[in-house]
Amino acid sequence: MTEKKESRLSDISTIREILGRHGFTFSRALGQNFLINPSVCPRMAELCGADEDTGVLEIGPGIGVLTQELAKRAKKVAAVELDQRLLPVLAETLAEYPNCRVIQGDVMKLDLHQLIAEEFPGMKVAVCANLPYYITSPVIMKLLEEKLPIAALTVMVQKEAAERICAQPGTRACGAVSAAVQYYAQPEILFQVSRGSFMPAPNVDSAVIQLKVRETPPVALKSEKGFFQLIKAAFGQRRKTALNAVSAGLGLPKAQVAGAMEQAGVPQNARAEQMTLDMLAAFSNALADSKEKEA
Ligand code: SAM
Repeated sequence: MTEKKESRLSDISTIREILGRHGFTFSRALGQNFLINPSVCPRMAELCGADEDTGVLEIGPGIGVLTQELAKRAKKVAAVELDQRLLPVLAETLAEYPNCRVIQGDVMKLDLHQLIAEEFPGMKVAVCANLPYYITSPVIMKLLEEKLPIAALTVMVQKEAAERICAQPGTRACGAVSAAVQYYAQPEILFQVSRGSFMPAPNVDSAVIQLKVRETPPVALKSEKGFFQLIKAAFGQRRKTALNAVSAGLGLPKAQVAGAMEQAGVPQNARAEQMTLDMLAAFSNALADSKEKEA
């Protein structure tokens, strides 16, 4: 009986029937592309580490197709959905899963430390979601920057975003987000998902990525704030050398930035994308030293 309902939730005619009955229409602004490929959600739920000791935080459950798969495996699922119109739909589709709780709200505004403490006491915590594409990076950065007690994030994002987020520092594809993510986590692309796996179908393909949150940072920083400001400035103007981009972006004299690069052993003509995480950290620490000397 349960099996039947689960498999039906990724079926187009079932989705139409449920949504039609609730008078629901898709919102582009909220990034509503619902999964209709029946193999994707079980795979994500399996790979995210959901088990009987784990609480899973889902962002944007939609009609609950992934939520059901998570609920079958996890001790508890807390799903944050912004769109109030989906609440009666979820009440119906999740009725048979007492270990699920839907929280109406904007994930960007919620106090996630409090949510995790209240919903998952004594549990390991994982995040699993098909993220709304318009806030992919902000959500990922919020989850990492707030240093929540999360073991791993397993999330579906657009393919380009996946490649950017998982790019290694020191490679062409690396951007500010890749470098920032690397500081907090070990990212990996798990598998690709074609655009036809969604309703409505978006214009691009997607990928499921996993960020395993590091227990300790891979580099020692004098100032985390200074490091992130440096990354933002260095990658902000990719066509410039890091020297020019950082000097302009942080409003610092070129000589001071050049001195810090020299102290860090970074070539003066290097671009941000050519720097490894170690180089970026050494650069940022040398810049912090030079600011201290000035003060
Ligand atoms: N999990 C469902 C699936 O895979 O079919 C739906 C995924 S859909 C890509 C993204 C979901 O995130 C939508 O249900 C949307 O309403 C919700 N959403 C959008 N912005 C949100 C926000 N700021 N906070 C929480 N949920 C949000």
